[in-house]
Amino acid sequence: MNNIEKQSGAQLSKPDETAEILDSEVQKDSPVRRIGNLRMVWDFASNYPRQIIFAVLSLFTAAMATLAIPAGFKRVIDDGFGSAGGDISQYFYYLFMIVVVLAIATALRFYFVSWLGERVVADIRLAVQKNLLRLPPGFFEQNRPSEIASRMTSDTAIIEQVVGTTLSVALRNIVMGIGGIVYLFTLAPKLTGALLIGIPVIILPIVLLGNKLRNVSRTSQDRVADVGAMIAETLGAMKIVQAFGQEKRESERFSGAAEATFDTAKKRIRLRAIMTSIVIALIFGAITMLMWKGAVDVAQGRLTGGTIAAFVLTGGLVAGAFGALTEVYGDLLRGAGAASRLAELLREEPDIAPPAKPVALPEPPRGQISFRNVSFSYPTRPDIAALKDFTLTVSPGETVAIVGPSGAGKSTLFQLAQRFYDPQNGSVRIDGVALPSADPADIRKRMAFVPQESVLFAATARDNLRYGNWQASDEEIWAAADAANAAAFLRALPDGLDSYLGEAGARLSGGQRQRMSIARALLRNAPILLLDEATSALDAESEKLVQDALDNLMADRTTLVIAHRLATIRTADRIIVMEEGQIVEEGTHDELSARGGLYARLARLQFNDNNGSLAK
Ligand code: ATP
Repeated sequence: MNNIEKQSGAQLSKPDETAEILDSEVQKDSPVRRIGNLRMVWDFASNYPRQIIFAVLSLFTAAMATLAIPAGFKRVIDDGFGSAGGDISQYFYYLFMIVVVLAIATALRFYFVSWLGERVVADIRLAVQKNLLRLPPGFFEQNRPSEIASRMTSDTAIIEQVVGTTLSVALRNIVMGIGGIVYLFTLAPKLTGALLIGIPVIILPIVLLGNKLRNVSRTSQDRVADVGAMIAETLGAMKIVQAFGQEKRESERFSGAAEATFDTAKKRIRLRAIMTSIVIALIFGAITMLMWKGAVDVAQGRLTGGTIAAFVLTGGLVAGAFGALTEVYGDLLRGAGAASRLAELLREEPDIAPPAKPVALPEPPRGQISFRNVSFSYPTRPDIAALKDFTLTVSPGETVAIVGPSGAGKSTLFQLAQRFYDPQNGSVRIDGVALPSADPADIRKRMAFVPQESVLFAATARDNLRYGNWQASDEEIWAAADAANAAAFLRALPDGLDSYLGEAGARLSGGQRQRMSIARALLRNAPILLLDEATSALDAESEKLVQDALDNLMADRTTLVIAHRLATIRTADRIIVMEEGQIVEEGTHDELSARGGLYARLARLQFNDNNGSLAK
């Protein structure tokens, strides 16, 4: 698997850092190859040839109209003013027409270019997300989800900027620059020669200062990001801050960050102020020199007044075009960095994919699951065996409770059963079919998973319930809710099933969230149930409701349950006790209690008689 973190060479904490580190990776390539990374953006943009044609046409028209304005002024001054009694108005009609063309063409250019930028970004986001959904959980352990999320937002924003602004600025200014120089030569070749030598002298200091300013601006943005991160952290932990009486310390910490932001901002504004004065001095100084030289030529009859006016105007446009082009390069490089990072996410291939010819699972499903001599280490911790030569067969309809100390490998069984990982040795089979020979989607269709911490989405109750079965009718949803003891509180919600449950189901209590999660698994109606019982202590009534819901869920299904509740353990057909990735004991509650081994010890130490749960 192509590991982004390895490539970026560090555990990354901030998107900006990520961007910079990856930028420096990208910068090892030659500039041409770096810019070449933008090819990926072109691949997406080229799906919209019509918009590209419209954008380029309007861009050309607008650039030409801009250049026509100085030409119009030349006519006004030379012919309009020059010919006594001549109709000066007609030249202004022309100028107005040019202005109208310029206005319309600019609007069209803006529309099509921005449209392309937004469309390309939307398409890239969709493609990246589609690929991410194929990747197994291991990928997200090796690549921080927050970093991936930042690529989806900040890197795509950079691409949007490149397509929606930079490329159009580049093209517009190349057209204007070249067109302008050609026109200048027709106006006054010698003066143009002088101007072409002068432009680099003016542009160079501006570019150098601009680079410095950009660096300071970036530091300034980093400081602002620090402030943002600190606010988010403090707000998120407000109860802890107040409970531990740390308001004063948090305020001091924050004031440190706020002052650091101000200090870097001060540097930035000082530099900007200096730059502004230098830019003004250089540009207006150059214009004055040109006017001076031109005025002498006009006085000596070598040039007309209109020519010199057109020259100064066009010269300004050409200089502006060159100035803009210098900014473009940096933006293109930034865009190339963003594109290469996004391309990595697009190229990432899942380790776990359907085989070319997947074996169909037997119909009707029996619900048998077996682990044969399975040994497995997580890719991020290859030295530690989470499962060692593990063998277990769960017969159709059987309930097997798994108990054992923390880290024994209980959850790992579920990860392998759902084929989120492949074991290094041995095999996992569903109804006799080895998992790698079947389509992972088919395997997962045969399972309902209830995690220890209920995972709900910021959506309605209905959508949360039918998450694993979108075809479910309202009757089926209510039947599942009834069986999961969730119907009463769902009915009491303001909009019933249409009630919005808040971020991660925040509007429900812990016990209610558990019952939602159980109802969701019921609706999935899969033959195999993987149940990781919640350890959070509920009050006796809630506990009873949850337990009844679980009993309904387990009935008639093959169940593998990581058990923390005495009630579950007592009703299980078999208990397996795990330690360090192996089964160390197996039997019923009474048998194992009588044996006096690890189970008896765990039970004696950890059964909490108040709520009947086998705490970890
Ligand atoms: P608990 O009861 O605390 O949930 P468990 O019995 O379910 O523990 P597992 O989560 O299966 O234990 O973990 C088995 C071993 O694998 C532990 O050593 C654990 O640290 C390691 N482990 C678990 N998940 C991962 C992971 N995603 N990446 C790397 N190592 C992991």
